Amino acid sequence: MAYSGSTEVRAYSAAYACAFFIEQKFGAPSAYVPPDLDPEGGPRVPLQSLKLHAELAGIGARSFAGDILLHPEFGFMYYASVFTELELPADQPMADNPCPAPSCVSMYRSIGRTPCMKFCPAQCLEGEVDEQGRQKKSRYDMALCAELTQEYETVPKMLAEAVRDEVRSRGAEGLLDPDRKMLWYKVSAGSGAWFAQCFECMRVCPLATQAPQADVISRTEPVRAAAIASQTKKD
Ligand code: SF4
Ligand code: SF4
Repeated sequence: MAYSGSTEVRAYSAAYACAFFIEQKFGAPSAYVPPDLDPEGGPRVPLQSLKLHAELAGIGARSFAGDILLHPEFGFMYYASVFTELELPADQPMADNPCPAPSCVSMYRSIGRTPCMKFCPAQCLEGEVDEQGRQKKSRYDMALCAELTQEYETVPKMLAEAVRDEVRSRGAEGLLDPDRKMLWYKVSAGSGAWFAQCFECMRVCPLATQAPQADVISRTEPVRAAAIASQTKKD
């Protein structure tokens, strides 16, 4: 299942509800797949790769941006999975990978890098585009990306410092210190949990930003137009 919206939490909620729905309506045992709760591997390790589930289901293909899955119609999405014994026809992986987009191929031909590679502040993305404009090689340095973006260990330390501060106003100021603004930005712009990403690779990605269903205003345009038409009819 894929969710195009603000946070992955909605996708998880929908998958949880879907598992109940399948059991109640079809009587087939179903279970929601927890995304990042492996009791032995730790909180960053999923029980199964939701990315692989989504790739096999054809709702995204691996991009140059650290293997983030992208879809030509929806751009960047969040994924959730359900295991079920209900017999369903299997989907197929996407026949064509939309990454790199044509404008990214042009940039690569010109400067040897695509937008995500060029603007990643950690410079952790590398890759090659072949003669046909397809991915030939891709390299993602996850440790560099994580060093820049996944600073959740910093947050409890910062809160502890603020609480310990003898002068409470200084503690609050500590939380709002200009040097810490980027951390709050990354947390709020990230996944909704402490797994913040800087998302520069997606901010400059034409698929993530310009896919028809990626923009909340353009994707809700038909609904608004239908509501206006219905109101006009009533008037
Ligand atoms: S999230 Fe930021 S650091 Fe990580 S790959 Fe994207 S641009 Fe680079
Ligand atoms: S900017 Fe987006 S479409 Fe372009 S190469 Fe990077 S991930 Fe692919």
